[in-house]
Amino acid sequence: MATRKTGRKFDKVLVANRGEIAVRIIQGLREMGLGTVAVYSEVDRTALHVLMADEAVFIGPSPAAESYLVGDKILAAARETGAGAIHPGYGFLSENGPFSRQVEEAGLVFIGPTAESMEVMGDKLASRRKMRSSGVTVVPGTDEAVTDPEVAIGIAEGIGYPVLLKASAGGGGKGMRIVRKSGDMASALRQTMGEAGSAFGNDAIFVEKYIENPKHIEVQVLGDGQGNAIHLFERECSVQRRHQKVIEESPSPSLTPELREKICAAAVQTAAAIDYRGAGTVEFILAPNGEFYFLEMNTRLQVEHPVTEMVTGTDLVHAMVKIALGEGICYRQEDLRQQGWALEFRLYAEDPSRNFAPSIGRIESMTIPQGPGVRLDLGVYEGFDVPIHYDPMLAKLIVWGEDREQAIARSRRVLGEFTLHGPVHNLPFHQWALEQPAFIDGSYTTHFVEDEFDPADWLPELDAGQAEALVAATALFEALRRSGQATEEKNVDCAAGNWRRNALRSMTGNK
Ligand code: ADP
Ligand code: ADP
Ligand code: MG
Repeated sequence: MATRKTGRKFDKVLVANRGEIAVRIIQGLREMGLGTVAVYSEVDRTALHVLMADEAVFIGPSPAAESYLVGDKILAAARETGAGAIHPGYGFLSENGPFSRQVEEAGLVFIGPTAESMEVMGDKLASRRKMRSSGVTVVPGTDEAVTDPEVAIGIAEGIGYPVLLKASAGGGGKGMRIVRKSGDMASALRQTMGEAGSAFGNDAIFVEKYIENPKHIEVQVLGDGQGNAIHLFERECSVQRRHQKVIEESPSPSLTPELREKICAAAVQTAAAIDYRGAGTVEFILAPNGEFYFLEMNTRLQVEHPVTEMVTGTDLVHAMVKIALGEGICYRQEDLRQQGWALEFRLYAEDPSRNFAPSIGRIESMTIPQGPGVRLDLGVYEGFDVPIHYDPMLAKLIVWGEDREQAIARSRRVLGEFTLHGPVHNLPFHQWALEQPAFIDGSYTTHFVEDEFDPADWLPELDAGQAEALVAATALFEALRRSGQATEEKNVDCAAGNWRRNALRSMTGNK
């Protein structure tokens, strides 16, 4: 499809990502009359984002480090196709300051913030210092990296145990360790530094107060890069496993109007303090006593942005693109309000009964739920092989209701209609969550999964014979895997997943 020339700053955008977020961005760009370019690795030749874009450019081997993370290859693809802008999505290069600088130096538009904003906010220590000096309250703790356990113990005694050792360059829930007493400090510090060094190439660790039973509340913001910023209210993301979100909602069931106003104002203050440009998220931790503290800012489109779109009736991809086109912020604060309630369920190819271990395999069949208030941001299709190389998120299901009760009831209906056969996935986990008293009454905290989740709660109850058959077959698969009879780990895993579901279905008569 030829891209129409419109006299805008750019007419064609390269999407430097894959999966559901690449698909969602391509949809937004198309609605704005912009041309779309996808990039893909070896294993993604037939991925959904490739099929959907106007053009697609091959950028190398499957490991992300050799394709989606190589700035030079992305830029070459943009040059080859004449794309005038790059949208990075989330993950990959989205928070990489040098990449955004490289894009702009090549004369292209980076649809996101400046490299300086990313560098301040990408480093948790730098962002703590910046926020403190701008008058935003951060979690009590240090603003300097700590390497000496004695110093760390001194700080911990000052703020009180438990404390959290946190990697300054950490992300995706990685690089954190709780320390409850001084005797554990030396080894915890050594381990966290080692992990951070190898995972993030930066072993700077700091100490902050570990808040027990908190809620994760974050605020969506938009900035114009000139010091003007607005907020699009909050999302609550306290349902987490391994410090990573699985269910998000907006509004948060825990904010009073006064608290909402304060937390949203703090987010706007954060964005304005760095002349933030584009869409971003300011994350806070809300303590049981109602105090809230700045955690970090994610300088990109967030995974859970659809819940905000559903309750505010906005389109954040459109808004980001308009800011990048130089048109400023397309919403006015006074026009924005939260209407109804939205819940998002992240559909991961992972096995909740095996500590949420990632799974892979072909999507054999899928029934997509529909009806009022339902949105599915999908990254796969029937017949697609879910690769091992990337984040195992397959789709996000977003459900809107007039109020929280209706949103929950509708979610139960929709999750019941949704079927997906192939890799092991976490749909049953979401169904389980929707039945928990702490979720239903909104009192859940970030400890929800750890405290409440027991795989036995959602696996069908088996009688003794069935349980024996299950154990025997699991052992058989393990033996096959170890003897190497299945040549590829991938096939074994996929088969094991299918087998387990089929076995359970035939045992219990559940479809
Ligand atoms: P969100 O707050 O938007 O939900 P997540 O923490 O779930 O963000 O991360 C979004 C995506 O970015 C995921 O694909 C995650 O794996 C990836 N990600 C985030 N931070 C990092 C990091 N420091 N290193 C590698 N991947 C990361
Ligand atoms: P990441 O960059 O990995 O997203 P965050 O600082 O945003 O790191 O923290 C991720 C999650 O870890 C939070 O949502 C929360 O559940 C938990 N967490 C982080 N800091 C604290 C803290 N000081 N006290 C309690 N929990 C915390
Ligand atoms: Mg975070």
